[in-house]
Amino acid sequence: MPVTPDDTRLMDVLQGGRCFHCGEPVGAKATFDHLIPQAYGGADEPANVVLAHRRCNQKKGDRLPTPEEIERFAAERRRSRLGVWPPLLALLKAEPGDEWMTVARAIADLR
Ligand SMILES: [Zn+2]
Repeated sequence: MPVTPDDTRLMDVLQGGRCFHCGEPVGAKATFDHLIPQAYGGADEPANVVLAHRRCNQKKGDRLPTPEEIERFAAERRRSRLGVWPPLLALLKAEPGDEWMTVARAIADLR
């Protein structure tokens, strides 16, 4: 299910009103950044989405999140109903060089 306005408000609280990528205040102009890009099968669900400035979102482009980003995301989401999309946790355990394949397999396993 797509991100609702309620989800967005909760995300804003969990992120302390800051952009996930640069840590600066973001406010009402926040865009949805899909940690696993939609172009690669990333879900349009709160569990795969963070709030970010448009410029930070664009700068990130279509790369996969780093282990540091996934861990920070999982920590923010702890005890939150928004959750963490399982392929993100699978990616955390990927062998170096095998990240894309690991994500593709984890997404396939959801179906
Ligand atoms: Zn930013």
